[in-house]
Amino acid sequence: MSKEIVYVKLGGSFITLKNKPFTLNIDALDKAVAIIKNTWKKVSLLLGNGGGSFAHPVVQKYKNACPEELLVRCHSATRKLNYIIVDKLLENNILATTIQTSAIIMKQNNEYKVFLDPVKILVEKGIIPVLYGECIINSKNTYTVLSTENVFRILSKYIKPSRIVLLTDVDGVYDKNPKKHRDAKIINVINRKNLEDVLEILSLSKDLDETGSMYGKIKSAAELSEELGIPVYIVSGINTGEAIKAILGKPLSRGTIIDMR
Ligand code: ADP
Repeated sequence: MSKEIVYVKLGGSFITLKNKPFTLNIDALDKAVAIIKNTWKKVSLLLGNGGGSFAHPVVQKYKNACPEELLVRCHSATRKLNYIIVDKLLENNILATTIQTSAIIMKQNNEYKVFLDPVKILVEKGIIPVLYGECIINSKNTYTVLSTENVFRILSKYIKPSRIVLLTDVDGVYDKNPKKHRDAKIINVINRKNLEDVLEILSLSKDLDETGSMYGKIKSAAELSEELGIPVYIVSGINTGEAIKAILGKPLSRGTIIDMR
């Protein structure tokens, strides 16, 4: 029987120090190695990493430059982070290799064009392809920023995962940003019954703490769960035990499962 395919995102908040430009979270990278070591032979993994503190400063710095310059600067920054991650995995004898997102996905006439055969074959061979959020080439506007979640969304049409796991630096989805509010409460399950309520709570907390990204993240994760009929787990990568459970599809002690089936 072929193994289950699991997409895992090493979030930028987990793998980099978000407020220190171009700074890796070394402890997190060690945790990522431990998580992958314990799972990659049991399921077929497809990894993606966020850009975190490598991508955002570059986009900020070059956003008013010509789009061609932004494109190549963005490529340079995201490539560096991805290479560090992949080399670290390989040093630990985990068979992982870079797949440059912008070399296999582009946007033409407002549609994504994809060349997925290399990824498919790597997954079949038990090698972990490591893609990443990147500026992809757009025939009209030069570039389009494609988040890791959107990379997963595009890939999942062709290579169907059994589940998707997003690793971040907090235990899951909370009713408000847990880094700013000590009384924030974790939301264990998001499903058809409570999605609207959760989105409403998150849209309120958006005004509270200005981070704002969680609302969009949960909305698109819920859409993905519904489209594919699979659960999307949001757990901490720092808590390696929970991350391993999520990847193997075991019940969680702490984390969020978005399940719109
Ligand atoms: P990543 O880059 O790892 O994908 P983000 O930085 O976009 O992740 O999201 C994770 C961050 O979102 C956490 O570090 C946390 O501080 C912040 N955050 C804001 N609101 C919430 C919330 N309601 N629940 C969980 N995390 C939240």
